[in-house]
Amino acid sequence: MSTATIPETLPDQSGHFGTFGGRFVPETLVAALDELTAEYEAAKADPEFRAKLDGLLSEFCGRETPLYFAERWTEKLGGAKIYLKREDLLHTGAHKINNALGQILLAKRLGKKRIIAETGAGQHGVATATVAARFGLECIVYMGAIDMERQHLNVVRMRLLGAEVRGVEAGQKTLKEAVNEALRDWVTNVRTTHYILGSALGPHPYPMMVRDFHKVIGEEARRQILEREEQLPDILVACVGGGSNAIGLFYPFLGDEDVKMVGVEAGGHGIRDGEHAARFQGGKLGVLQGTKTWLLADEDGQIELTHSVSAGLDYAAVGPEHAFLQNEGRVDYTYATDDEALAAFREMSETEGIIPALETSHALAHVQKIAPEMSKDEIIVVNLSGRGDKDVEQAAKYLLKDEE
Ligand SMILES: *Cc1c(COP(=O)(O)O)cnc(C)c1O
Repeated sequence: MSTATIPETLPDQSGHFGTFGGRFVPETLVAALDELTAEYEAAKADPEFRAKLDGLLSEFCGRETPLYFAERWTEKLGGAKIYLKREDLLHTGAHKINNALGQILLAKRLGKKRIIAETGAGQHGVATATVAARFGLECIVYMGAIDMERQHLNVVRMRLLGAEVRGVEAGQKTLKEAVNEALRDWVTNVRTTHYILGSALGPHPYPMMVRDFHKVIGEEARRQILEREEQLPDILVACVGGGSNAIGLFYPFLGDEDVKMVGVEAGGHGIRDGEHAARFQGGKLGVLQGTKTWLLADEDGQIELTHSVSAGLDYAAVGPEHAFLQNEGRVDYTYATDDEALAAFREMSETEGIIPALETSHALAHVQKIAPEMSKDEIIVVNLSGRGDKDVEQAAKYLLKDEE
Protein backbone atom coordinates (compact mmCIF):
# COMPACT_ATOMS: atom_id res chain seq x y z
CA MET A 1 0.00 0.00 0.00
CA SER A 2 1.61 3.25 -1.11
CA THR A 3 -0.05 5.65 1.29
CA ALA A 4 2.78 8.14 0.84
CA THR A 5 1.40 9.05 -2.59
CA ILE A 6 -2.19 9.67 -1.47
CA PRO A 7 -1.96 13.33 -0.44
CA GLU A 8 -0.74 14.95 -3.66
CA THR A 9 -2.56 12.86 -6.22
CA LEU A 10 -6.22 12.77 -5.33
CA PRO A 11 -8.81 13.48 -6.43
CA ASP A 12 -8.08 13.18 -10.16
CA GLN A 13 -9.23 15.78 -12.73
CA SER A 14 -12.77 14.43 -12.69
CA GLY A 15 -12.97 14.52 -8.91
CA HIS A 16 -12.55 10.81 -8.29
CA PHE A 17 -10.88 9.25 -5.27
CA GLY A 18 -10.37 5.83 -6.82
CA THR A 19 -13.89 4.71 -7.73
CA PHE A 20 -15.50 7.15 -5.28
CA GLY A 21 -16.54 10.78 -5.69
CA GLY A 22 -17.14 12.34 -9.09
CA ARG A 23 -19.98 14.63 -10.07
CA PHE A 24 -23.57 13.39 -10.39
CA VAL A 25 -25.59 16.56 -10.96
CA PRO A 26 -28.21 18.07 -13.26
CA GLU A 27 -26.82 19.62 -16.44
CA THR A 28 -27.56 23.15 -15.18
CA LEU A 29 -24.96 22.82 -12.43
CA VAL A 30 -22.08 21.53 -14.52
CA ALA A 31 -20.99 24.97 -15.74
CA ALA A 32 -21.16 26.39 -12.21
CA LEU A 33 -19.08 23.53 -10.82
CA ASP A 34 -16.53 23.97 -13.61
CA GLU A 35 -16.37 27.70 -12.90
CA LEU A 36 -15.94 27.00 -9.18
CA THR A 37 -13.19 24.45 -9.80
CA ALA A 38 -11.28 26.85 -12.05
CA GLU A 39 -11.63 29.75 -9.61
CA TYR A 40 -10.56 27.56 -6.72
CA GLU A 41 -7.43 26.41 -8.58
CA ALA A 42 -6.60 30.03 -9.41
CA ALA A 43 -7.17 31.17 -5.83
CA LYS A 44 -5.03 28.36 -4.47
CA ALA A 45 -2.13 29.54 -6.60
CA ASP A 46 -2.66 33.20 -5.69
CA PRO A 47 -0.48 34.37 -2.74
CA GLU A 48 -2.83 37.30 -2.13
CA PHE A 49 -5.80 34.96 -1.63
CA ARG A 50 -3.76 32.79 0.74
CA ALA A 51 -2.60 35.83 2.73
CA LYS A 52 -6.14 37.18 3.03
CA LEU A 53 -7.46 33.77 4.16
CA ASP A 54 -4.64 33.26 6.65
CA GLY A 55 -5.11 36.76 8.07
CA LEU A 56 -8.82 36.22 8.65
CA LEU A 57 -8.30 32.69 10.01
CA SER A 58 -5.95 34.20 12.54
CA GLU A 59 -7.62 37.48 13.48
CA PHE A 60 -11.31 36.82 12.84
CA CYS A 61 -11.47 33.12 13.71
CA GLY A 62 -8.74 32.75 16.33
CA ARG A 63 -6.27 30.33 14.69
CA GLU A 64 -4.02 28.68 15.50
CA THR A 65 -5.99 26.60 17.94
CA PRO A 66 -4.15 25.00 20.87
CA LEU A 67 -3.14 21.37 21.05
CA TYR A 68 -4.05 20.76 24.66
CA PHE A 69 -2.74 17.95 26.83
CA ALA A 70 -5.72 16.42 28.66
CA GLU A 71 -3.86 15.69 31.85
CA ARG A 72 -6.65 14.55 34.17
CA TRP A 73 -8.41 12.48 31.51
CA THR A 74 -5.12 10.80 30.59
CA GLU A 75 -4.46 9.99 34.24
CA LYS A 76 -7.96 8.65 34.75
CA LEU A 77 -7.86 6.37 31.71
CA GLY A 78 -4.38 5.20 32.74
CA GLY A 79 -2.90 4.58 29.29
CA ALA A 80 -1.86 6.68 26.29
CA LYS A 81 -1.26 10.42 26.53
CA ILE A 82 -4.27 12.25 25.10
CA TYR A 83 -4.06 15.57 23.29
CA LEU A 84 -7.10 17.60 22.22
CA LYS A 85 -6.98 19.70 19.06
CA ARG A 86 -9.10 22.61 20.25
CA GLU A 87 -11.29 23.51 17.25
CA ASP A 88 -14.00 24.23 19.83
CA LEU A 89 -12.17 27.47 20.60
CA LEU A 90 -12.63 28.86 17.10
CA HIS A 91 -15.05 31.71 16.45
CA THR A 92 -18.62 30.29 16.32
CA GLY A 93 -17.55 27.22 18.27
CA ALA A 94 -16.55 24.55 15.74
CA HIS A 95 -14.21 23.77 12.86
CA LYS A 96 -16.90 24.72 10.32
CA ILE A 97 -15.75 28.33 9.96
CA ASN A 98 -12.45 27.27 8.32
CA ASN A 99 -14.43 26.13 5.29
CA ALA A 100 -17.14 28.80 5.36
CA LEU A 101 -14.50 31.53 5.34
CA GLY A 102 -12.53 29.97 2.49
CA GLN A 103 -15.66 29.58 0.40
CA ILE A 104 -16.99 33.08 0.94
CA LEU A 105 -13.67 34.49 -0.25
CA LEU A 106 -14.15 32.39 -3.39
CA ALA A 107 -17.73 33.64 -3.76
CA LYS A 108 -16.39 37.20 -3.66
CA ARG A 109 -13.83 36.37 -6.36
CA LEU A 110 -16.65 34.89 -8.44
CA GLY A 111 -18.71 38.07 -8.01
CA LYS A 112 -21.65 36.22 -6.42
CA LYS A 113 -24.08 38.33 -4.40
CA ARG A 114 -26.13 35.68 -2.68
CA ILE A 115 -25.05 32.82 -0.39
CA ILE A 116 -26.98 29.66 0.36
CA ALA A 117 -26.13 26.81 2.70
CA GLU A 118 -27.62 23.71 4.28
CA THR A 119 -27.22 22.90 7.93
CA GLY A 120 -27.82 19.96 10.26
CA ALA A 121 -26.83 20.84 13.81
CA GLY A 122 -26.80 24.48 12.80
CA GLN A 123 -23.06 24.93 13.21
CA HIS A 124 -22.42 25.23 9.49
CA GLY A 125 -25.40 27.56 9.16
CA VAL A 126 -24.03 29.76 11.93
CA ALA A 127 -20.54 29.75 10.39
CA THR A 128 -21.99 30.68 6.99
CA ALA A 129 -24.28 33.37 8.41
CA THR A 130 -21.26 34.76 10.25
CA VAL A 131 -19.01 35.09 7.20
CA ALA A 132 -21.94 36.38 5.11
CA ALA A 133 -22.44 39.14 7.69
CA ARG A 134 -18.71 39.84 7.72
CA PHE A 135 -18.72 40.32 3.92
CA GLY A 136 -22.17 41.89 3.62
CA LEU A 137 -23.75 39.20 1.43
CA GLU A 138 -27.36 37.99 1.50
CA CYS A 139 -27.58 34.58 3.19
CA ILE A 140 -30.24 31.87 3.15
CA VAL A 141 -29.83 28.71 5.20
CA TYR A 142 -31.91 25.56 4.63
CA MET A 143 -32.53 23.47 7.73
CA GLY A 144 -34.74 20.45 8.42
CA ALA A 145 -37.75 21.25 10.61
CA ILE A 146 -36.73 18.60 13.17
CA ASP A 147 -33.21 20.02 13.38
CA MET A 148 -34.69 23.51 13.86
CA GLU A 149 -36.40 22.17 16.95
CA ARG A 150 -33.47 20.31 18.45
CA GLN A 151 -30.97 23.08 17.65
CA HIS A 152 -33.13 26.10 18.35
CA LEU A 153 -30.27 28.17 19.77
CA ASN A 154 -28.42 28.03 16.45
CA VAL A 155 -31.58 29.07 14.59
CA VAL A 156 -31.71 32.19 16.74
CA ARG A 157 -28.01 32.87 16.20
CA MET A 158 -28.39 32.68 12.41
CA ARG A 159 -31.35 35.07 12.49
CA LEU A 160 -29.45 37.52 14.71
CA LEU A 161 -26.61 37.41 12.19
CA GLY A 162 -29.05 38.57 9.52
CA ALA A 163 -29.56 35.25 7.71
CA GLU A 164 -32.91 33.86 6.62
CA VAL A 165 -33.48 30.32 7.93
CA ARG A 166 -35.82 28.29 5.72
CA GLY A 167 -37.35 25.23 7.40
CA VAL A 168 -37.59 22.08 5.29
CA GLU A 169 -40.66 19.92 5.94
CA ALA A 170 -39.97 17.15 3.41
CA GLY A 171 -39.10 13.54 4.27
CA GLN A 172 -37.23 13.02 7.51
CA LYS A 173 -36.94 16.81 7.98
CA THR A 174 -33.21 16.68 8.68
CA LEU A 175 -29.93 17.29 6.85
CA LYS A 176 -30.52 15.22 3.70
CA GLU A 177 -33.67 17.16 2.87
CA ALA A 178 -31.94 20.46 3.64
CA VAL A 179 -29.20 19.59 1.11
CA ASN A 180 -31.89 18.75 -1.48
CA GLU A 181 -33.53 22.15 -0.99
CA ALA A 182 -30.19 23.96 -1.20
CA LEU A 183 -29.37 22.14 -4.45
CA ARG A 184 -32.80 23.02 -5.84
CA ASP A 185 -32.24 26.69 -4.98
CA TRP A 186 -28.79 26.59 -6.57
CA VAL A 187 -30.10 25.13 -9.82
CA THR A 188 -32.62 28.00 -10.02
CA ASN A 189 -30.31 30.86 -8.99
CA VAL A 190 -26.91 29.62 -10.05
CA ARG A 191 -25.83 32.85 -11.81
CA THR A 192 -26.09 35.04 -8.72
CA THR A 193 -25.60 32.47 -5.99
CA HIS A 194 -22.77 30.50 -4.41
CA TYR A 195 -23.64 27.38 -2.45
CA ILE A 196 -21.38 27.03 0.62
CA LEU A 197 -21.59 23.29 1.16
CA GLY A 198 -20.72 22.38 4.73
CA SER A 199 -18.82 19.11 4.64
CA ALA A 200 -16.42 17.08 2.51
CA LEU A 201 -19.38 15.87 0.45
CA GLY A 202 -21.29 16.56 -2.72
CA PRO A 203 -20.08 16.88 -6.31
CA HIS A 204 -16.50 17.75 -7.30
CA PRO A 205 -14.84 20.13 -6.41
CA TYR A 206 -16.50 20.29 -2.96
CA PRO A 207 -14.92 17.23 -1.28
CA MET A 208 -11.44 18.39 -2.35
CA MET A 209 -12.00 22.07 -1.63
CA VAL A 210 -13.61 21.56 1.77
CA ARG A 211 -10.76 19.20 2.74
CA ASP A 212 -8.19 21.76 1.67
CA PHE A 213 -9.82 24.52 3.74
CA HIS A 214 -9.75 22.24 6.81
CA LYS A 215 -6.31 20.69 6.43
CA VAL A 216 -4.91 23.56 8.49
CA ILE A 217 -6.18 21.52 11.49
CA GLY A 218 -3.79 18.65 10.77
CA GLU A 219 -0.94 20.90 9.66
CA GLU A 220 -1.04 22.75 12.97
CA ALA A 221 -1.51 19.57 15.01
CA ARG A 222 1.47 17.94 13.28
CA ARG A 223 3.74 20.90 14.01
CA GLN A 224 2.44 21.26 17.58
CA ILE A 225 2.90 17.61 18.57
CA LEU A 226 6.42 17.54 17.09
CA GLU A 227 7.31 20.63 19.12
CA ARG A 228 5.81 19.25 22.27
CA GLU A 229 6.68 15.53 22.14
CA GLU A 230 9.34 15.40 19.42
CA GLN A 231 7.44 12.54 17.84
CA LEU A 232 4.35 11.93 15.77
CA PRO A 233 1.18 10.65 17.43
CA ASP A 234 0.46 6.93 17.36
CA ILE A 235 -3.17 7.45 16.55
CA LEU A 236 -5.54 10.19 15.41
CA VAL A 237 -9.23 10.06 16.28
CA ALA A 238 -12.08 12.18 14.88
CA CYS A 239 -15.85 11.89 14.52
CA VAL A 240 -17.23 11.50 11.00
CA GLY A 241 -20.48 13.05 9.79
CA GLY A 242 -19.77 14.09 6.22
CA GLY A 243 -16.16 13.85 7.25
CA SER A 244 -14.74 17.39 7.11
CA ASN A 245 -13.19 17.70 10.57
CA ALA A 246 -11.77 14.19 10.27
CA ILE A 247 -10.19 14.69 6.84
CA GLY A 248 -8.88 18.08 8.00
CA LEU A 249 -6.97 16.38 10.81
CA PHE A 250 -5.99 13.21 8.92
CA TYR A 251 -4.89 14.59 5.57
CA PRO A 252 -1.50 16.07 6.51
CA PHE A 253 -0.60 12.76 8.22
CA LEU A 254 -1.62 10.40 5.41
CA GLY A 255 1.96 9.97 4.28
CA ASP A 256 3.15 9.11 7.82
CA GLU A 257 2.78 5.36 7.64
CA ASP A 258 3.18 4.81 11.38
CA VAL A 259 0.33 7.15 12.29
CA LYS A 260 -2.92 5.18 12.62
CA MET A 261 -6.24 6.93 12.13
CA VAL A 262 -9.76 6.16 13.28
CA GLY A 263 -12.97 7.80 12.13
CA VAL A 264 -15.93 7.42 14.49
CA GLU A 265 -19.45 7.35 13.08
CA ALA A 266 -22.78 7.63 14.88
CA GLY A 267 -23.99 4.25 16.16
CA GLY A 268 -27.28 5.74 17.39
CA HIS A 269 -29.35 3.15 19.25
CA GLY A 270 -27.18 0.37 17.80
CA ILE A 271 -26.50 -1.04 14.33
CA ARG A 272 -30.09 -1.86 13.30
CA ASP A 273 -31.90 -0.53 10.21
CA GLY A 274 -33.03 3.04 10.71
CA GLU A 275 -31.45 3.36 14.17
CA HIS A 276 -27.97 4.67 13.35
CA ALA A 277 -25.85 6.67 10.86
CA ALA A 278 -22.75 4.45 10.62
CA ARG A 279 -22.32 4.13 6.84
CA PHE A 280 -19.37 1.75 7.08
CA GLN A 281 -21.41 -0.64 9.25
CA GLY A 282 -23.70 -2.38 6.80
CA GLY A 283 -23.91 0.46 4.29
CA LYS A 284 -23.45 0.06 0.56
CA LEU A 285 -21.95 1.85 -2.44
CA GLY A 286 -24.30 4.28 -4.13
CA VAL A 287 -24.86 7.84 -5.29
CA LEU A 288 -26.34 10.54 -3.09
CA GLN A 289 -26.42 14.29 -3.62
CA GLY A 290 -23.82 14.46 -6.33
CA THR A 291 -21.23 11.94 -5.20
CA LYS A 292 -20.56 8.21 -5.33
CA THR A 293 -19.80 6.90 -1.89
CA TRP A 294 -20.71 4.62 0.98
CA LEU A 295 -24.28 5.17 2.18
CA LEU A 296 -27.22 3.66 4.02
CA ALA A 297 -29.82 2.33 1.59
CA ASP A 298 -32.18 -0.62 1.34
CA GLU A 299 -32.19 -3.39 -1.32
CA ASP A 300 -33.92 -1.10 -3.86
CA GLY A 301 -31.43 1.70 -3.30
CA GLN A 302 -33.90 3.79 -1.28
CA ILE A 303 -32.06 5.87 1.30
CA GLU A 304 -32.75 4.54 4.78
CA LEU A 305 -33.78 6.51 7.82
CA THR A 306 -30.91 7.47 10.08
CA HIS A 307 -30.72 8.30 13.75
CA SER A 308 -28.17 9.94 15.99
CA VAL A 309 -28.41 11.94 19.19
CA SER A 310 -26.17 14.46 17.39
CA ALA A 311 -27.73 16.27 14.43
CA GLY A 312 -24.31 16.86 12.87
CA LEU A 313 -23.62 13.13 12.39
CA ASP A 314 -27.16 12.23 11.33
CA TYR A 315 -26.66 11.80 7.57
CA ALA A 316 -26.99 8.81 5.24
CA ALA A 317 -23.77 9.26 3.22
CA VAL A 318 -20.10 9.75 4.05
CA GLY A 319 -17.59 11.90 2.15
CA PRO A 320 -16.06 10.06 -0.84
CA GLU A 321 -12.45 10.47 0.32
CA HIS A 322 -13.32 8.54 3.48
CA ALA A 323 -14.84 5.78 1.35
CA PHE A 324 -11.54 5.68 -0.51
CA LEU A 325 -9.37 5.68 2.63
CA GLN A 326 -11.48 2.91 4.13
CA ASN A 327 -11.21 0.89 0.94
CA GLU A 328 -7.41 1.34 0.93
CA GLY A 329 -7.24 0.25 4.55
CA ARG A 330 -5.47 3.51 5.42
CA VAL A 331 -8.09 4.67 7.95
CA ASP A 332 -10.23 2.50 10.24
CA TYR A 333 -13.86 3.40 10.82
CA THR A 334 -15.83 2.45 13.89
CA TYR A 335 -18.82 3.83 15.73
CA ALA A 336 -20.02 4.98 19.13
CA THR A 337 -23.64 4.74 20.25
CA ASP A 338 -25.77 7.60 21.61
CA ASP A 339 -25.29 6.31 25.15
CA GLU A 340 -21.52 6.03 24.79
CA ALA A 341 -21.32 9.54 23.34
CA LEU A 342 -23.44 10.97 26.16
CA ALA A 343 -21.24 9.27 28.75
CA ALA A 344 -18.13 10.72 27.10
CA PHE A 345 -19.80 14.15 26.94
CA ARG A 346 -20.22 14.05 30.70
CA GLU A 347 -16.74 12.65 31.29
CA MET A 348 -15.02 15.41 29.28
CA SER A 349 -17.09 18.10 30.99
CA GLU A 350 -16.34 16.86 34.50
CA THR A 351 -12.74 15.78 34.00
CA GLU A 352 -11.30 18.55 31.84
CA GLY A 353 -13.75 21.43 32.28
CA ILE A 354 -14.57 21.36 28.57
CA ILE A 355 -18.16 20.82 27.40
CA PRO A 356 -17.79 19.16 23.97
CA ALA A 357 -20.30 18.99 21.12
CA LEU A 358 -22.33 15.78 20.98
CA GLU A 359 -20.75 15.06 17.57
CA THR A 360 -17.27 15.34 19.08
CA SER A 361 -18.35 13.16 22.00
CA HIS A 362 -18.47 10.17 19.62
CA ALA A 363 -14.73 10.54 19.01
CA LEU A 364 -14.15 10.96 22.74
CA ALA A 365 -16.13 7.78 23.44
CA HIS A 366 -13.73 5.87 21.22
CA VAL A 367 -10.72 7.35 22.99
CA GLN A 368 -12.20 6.12 26.27
CA LYS A 369 -12.24 2.60 24.81
CA ILE A 370 -8.70 2.52 23.40
CA ALA A 371 -6.57 4.71 25.70
CA PRO A 372 -6.56 2.30 28.67
CA GLU A 373 -5.26 -0.49 26.40
CA MET A 374 -2.34 1.61 25.17
CA SER A 375 1.00 2.22 26.89
CA LYS A 376 1.84 5.44 28.72
CA ASP A 377 4.40 6.52 26.14
CA GLU A 378 1.94 6.31 23.27
CA ILE A 379 0.08 9.38 22.03
CA ILE A 380 -3.49 9.96 20.89
CA VAL A 381 -4.55 13.18 19.20
CA VAL A 382 -8.32 13.64 19.11
CA ASN A 383 -10.05 16.40 17.18
CA LEU A 384 -12.22 18.40 19.56
CA SER A 385 -14.32 19.52 16.61
CA GLY A 386 -16.72 21.76 18.51
CA ARG A 387 -18.08 22.96 21.81
CA GLY A 388 -21.29 21.77 23.38
CA ASP A 389 -23.12 25.01 24.14
CA LYS A 390 -25.68 24.13 21.47
CA ASP A 391 -26.23 20.71 23.07
CA VAL A 392 -26.63 21.49 26.75
CA GLU A 393 -30.43 21.33 26.82
CA GLN A 394 -30.49 18.07 24.95
CA ALA A 395 -27.74 16.55 27.07
CA ALA A 396 -29.43 17.69 30.26
CA LYS A 397 -32.58 15.85 29.21
CA TYR A 398 -30.63 12.58 29.22
CA LEU A 399 -27.92 13.17 31.80
CA LEU A 400 -29.55 15.27 34.49
CA LYS A 401 -33.04 13.77 34.45
CA ASP A 402 -32.71 12.31 37.94
CA GLU A 403 -31.13 15.44 39.41
CA GLU A 404 -33.85 18.05 38.83
C1 LIG B 1 -20.83 19.52 11.79
C2 LIG B 1 -20.05 18.96 12.89
C3 LIG B 1 -19.46 17.68 12.80
C4 LIG B 1 -19.70 16.75 11.65
O1 LIG B 1 -19.31 17.20 10.40
P1 LIG B 1 -17.98 16.69 9.70
O2 LIG B 1 -18.07 17.30 8.35
O3 LIG B 1 -17.99 15.21 9.69
O4 LIG B 1 -16.84 17.24 10.49
C5 LIG B 1 -18.65 17.26 13.83
N1 LIG B 1 -18.45 18.04 14.92
C6 LIG B 1 -19.00 19.25 15.05
C7 LIG B 1 -18.74 20.05 16.27
C8 LIG B 1 -19.81 19.76 14.04
O5 LIG B 1 -20.36 20.97 14.18
